Amino acid sequence: MKLRGGYNVSLEGRPSPVVKRMPEPKEIYLPLRSRRFLFNEICVEDGQQVNAGDVIAKDPNNFALPLLAPRGGTVKLNEVAGHIVLSNLSPREGKIHIPEKHLPHIVQEMGNAGMKRYKLLSLGAWQFFHDAYTGQLPDPLGTPQAVIVSTLSLEPFLARGDVQLHNRLLQFTRGLEHLQSLLEYQPIYLIMPNVKSPFASQVREHIRGYAWAKLIQVPLKYPYDNFNILARALGLKRSAGPIWSVRVEGILAIDRALTVSKPCLVRIVSIGGPAVSSPIHLKTMAGYPIQTVLDNYTTEPHVKVLDGGLLTGEPISQEMLGLGTESRGLTVIPELKEREFLGFTRPGWGRQSYSKCFLSALRVDFSEHLTTAMRGEIRPCISCNFCEEVCPAGIMPHLLHKYLYRGLIEEVERARVDLCVECGLCSFVCPSKIELRSEFIEAKKLIEKEKEEIRLEQAKQQLQENNK
Ligand code: SF4
Ligand code: SF4
Repeated sequence: MKLRGGYNVSLEGRPSPVVKRMPEPKEIYLPLRSRRFLFNEICVEDGQQVNAGDVIAKDPNNFALPLLAPRGGTVKLNEVAGHIVLSNLSPREGKIHIPEKHLPHIVQEMGNAGMKRYKLLSLGAWQFFHDAYTGQLPDPLGTPQAVIVSTLSLEPFLARGDVQLHNRLLQFTRGLEHLQSLLEYQPIYLIMPNVKSPFASQVREHIRGYAWAKLIQVPLKYPYDNFNILARALGLKRSAGPIWSVRVEGILAIDRALTVSKPCLVRIVSIGGPAVSSPIHLKTMAGYPIQTVLDNYTTEPHVKVLDGGLLTGEPISQEMLGLGTESRGLTVIPELKEREFLGFTRPGWGRQSYSKCFLSALRVDFSEHLTTAMRGEIRPCISCNFCEEVCPAGIMPHLLHKYLYRGLIEEVERARVDLCVECGLCSFVCPSKIELRSEFIEAKKLIEKEKEEIRLEQAKQQLQENNK
């Protein structure tokens, strides 16, 4: 297995492996939008009483994936835009009822596996699945070419796989066995940092004869936990069909759904970053008030909060009040708005980068304190090549940047911007702090839009020819 590039991002604020349970909230604010999902089919009415685990909304564009109530309570639909609010909370769980009349097609040949897949979808476990190449939710009734299960989480500062696995070996291995029961001959690749560790031996021992997972060792370098990178390194071709990918929390959710028929309502979320007093893991739920978490854990008066990790997380807007259904961590960075005198001489000094350039080349190594300050104006590419060295996709970010700067979108396409996995490592190491990742995301969207327009035009012309 060949992996290229990568880098160990080492920053202040790494969450400790301790998991602390958050106190029960007074209200829950469930955002209707997450990175992949939009729950715009509302299944409850204003003022309705719901139980924990009840379906309160669905995403019609993602196989009717349900949004489940993490607690029982009273529904408020119009209190906060973009959210369903639950108040008068109680932990009461309803009787789990999977409405068979809404059951889509269960393919005959799937037998028992078809019903199990439907159960995973209904009980919220399917939301943890990704397609390795597209990142989207795979079809629960589709046939994958392979499954990748990853125990790694390498981006600072997301909830770590080893923390989620703590004391849950049995649930994890049983989850793997359930996963096996959904498949026929397709391989399961289990990604681990060390396949000779005592933990790896225990997993092997537990699943022997029940699940056929091939243990794959991957070095602890960001972004080797990226499913797209892993699929390429395993030699799995995109054209050969979907590749299901799932992390530890997904395997635990599978076990819960298929062993005890219970919905997965608990989330382990990390809170880390230089502005956090004691970075830690939190046992909480989707919709938990973000402000309560920040009040308890941040030290600085002005902070920038990212939903996700430092390199790929998205800034949380003031309108977002609760943890999203896909939140895996909050990264909190001190917000410094003032520029520094002669700051432009100091890229890589106070602006986290592994590259020593300009005056920062004179310094000795020391631990960096990350902030949002730009400390000077944006400067041009200095062709240091650091971005190319770390890029796991094997493309040349500096070249793409130069093409984009000159508006040469066809050249950008030829230079294979499509291979970019949006890991953000190039932006991180760039001493000029060029926003390479966001440039490439925009370029990919533009290329896709142009292709779609060409497809539509061709379809229109074909229709006109057929009508002649
Ligand atoms: S964001 Fe894209 S171009 Fe930059 S390092 Fe990652 S894969 Fe390479
Ligand atoms: S884009 Fe940044 S990291 Fe890449 S060559 Fe230019 S200055 Fe160096």
